Amino acid sequence: MTAKLRIMPLGGLGEVGKNMTIVEYGRNIIVIDAGMMFPESDMLGVDYIIPDWDYLRDKKDSVRAILITHGHLDHIGALTHFLQEFEAPVYATRLTRGLIEVRLKRERMLEQTALHTYAAGEAITIGPFTIEPYHVCHSIPDSVGLGITTPAGLIVHSGDFKFDDTPVDGWPTDRAKLAEFSRRGVLVLLSDSTNADRPGSTPSEAVLDDAFHQIMCEAPGRLIIATFSSLISRVQQVVNVAQRHNRKIAIAGRSMVENSRMARELGYLHIPADILVDLDKVKRLPPQQVVIMATGSQGEPMAVLNRLATNSHRLLSIQEGDTVLLSSHTIPGNEETTYGVINRLFKRGADVYYGDQAQAHVSGHASQEELKMLINLLRPRFLVPIHGELRHLVQHAKLAHELGIAKRDIAVVENGYPLTFDGEWMRIGKRVPGDYVFVDGSLVGEVGPLVMRQRDGLAQSGFVTAVAPYDRHAGKTVGQPRIITRGFVYAPNAEELLAQAGDLVRATASVEQGTAPGKVEAKIEQALSSFFYRETRRRPVVTVALIEV
Ligand SMILES: [Zn+2]
Ligand SMILES: [Zn+2]
Repeated sequence: MTAKLRIMPLGGLGEVGKNMTIVEYGRNIIVIDAGMMFPESDMLGVDYIIPDWDYLRDKKDSVRAILITHGHLDHIGALTHFLQEFEAPVYATRLTRGLIEVRLKRERMLEQTALHTYAAGEAITIGPFTIEPYHVCHSIPDSVGLGITTPAGLIVHSGDFKFDDTPVDGWPTDRAKLAEFSRRGVLVLLSDSTNADRPGSTPSEAVLDDAFHQIMCEAPGRLIIATFSSLISRVQQVVNVAQRHNRKIAIAGRSMVENSRMARELGYLHIPADILVDLDKVKRLPPQQVVIMATGSQGEPMAVLNRLATNSHRLLSIQEGDTVLLSSHTIPGNEETTYGVINRLFKRGADVYYGDQAQAHVSGHASQEELKMLINLLRPRFLVPIHGELRHLVQHAKLAHELGIAKRDIAVVENGYPLTFDGEWMRIGKRVPGDYVFVDGSLVGEVGPLVMRQRDGLAQSGFVTAVAPYDRHAGKTVGQPRIITRGFVYAPNAEELLAQAGDLVRATASVEQGTAPGKVEAKIEQALSSFFYRETRRRPVVTVALIEV
């Protein structure tokens, strides 16, 4: 039996975030990216979500390597979790590796991890695969797409990309390499769909220079710019413009400080020493000479922007004349928290610029004309739209179809559908079950749909607990039950309701002699639930504890 090529998306297809794709040939597997995703507002208490890689658990010995396309969290955020289960070596470009090291160090996992650097233009061999990373423009330097030569043909994985002719680092997407792949013949293209519903081309990062220039002219005092800590090129742009305005730069927020220090050391971020000031020194400067780069553009509770909004930062607080600029696009699901932070910043007297009106963000992803250009350059036999919600994947497929790729040669699939390539055919297999893996504090995967439903119930209507001593032989409770509530009613104002509930507990508990408390508890829970719903039209979570005496 000859081996078949199989591509298996485990994350990022049917959603934005937690990207992960598997390429499998015989007993050889390479994993592309290991990202995380931010929770939506109805995922109560969840810190972030990682891919479900259960598919790989009984194939552990086959995992040869994990290849990272770039340093954004939706591509590296799950790596520490992945490496706790799999011992594969990690390949990344220099800057991406630096960003990964920062995270591994924090988890004390740096020593035991085999990290390798690869660079655009190189070729490395892993098992039956030859991997050729090629440079792509994105909103972080040192991003690559991957050409992967397999015994069944050439795969091109676009990574996250756009065709920017004036990128901040002066290094455009490698069209020559794409043309070379095309000449060799591309079996399948996996291509970024994030902006597949946007017509035209994505503007160059260069247009942001004007926006930063404008706001530095107009801001009467300190300027606080919030963005992702991984947007190294955004930091560079701010530095460049600040220099022209004689403003100094301070960096706030642990991840931003660590990432910029690392990017400076590696030569990806250039900040002249006389421009950079420590955060605790900005007080001594005239406000109009200060720019502070900060974390928290998504309203994250522990990041700098929220600390400023709640006046709980150790060194900084909002003062009269401060201008805050959110240089980012709010990730769907984060709107409420972000707007909450913005409102509180206004309340403290800052002027805040955000969203489209700020014009301080451009996307790092290709729009429709660029997606078409990539397809035209590569002329792949098959196309798999990746990185996007279903609507993005479908839009991407429509574009490809317009360019003459037959519908049966385009796989619009969500996570978990194995694609096998067998000579002239691409087959879409049966979906491998997968789920969200929630990370909540140090709990990984323990919090599932059931716990989530319970949290939802608690958040909606609170809880009621009834505790009563119980005499099994008499078949009844002893004395008055205690009724405890949280988040349901204000107990002092609901005495009558709770007294009635207590009576109900006693009445329901009077059953035949010798009945086990467990059985009685379930009965009382049901009776209480219906009682509260009848009386209040609310459904608090009800628990009953009968303690045998
Ligand atoms: Zn990215
Ligand atoms: Zn991404």
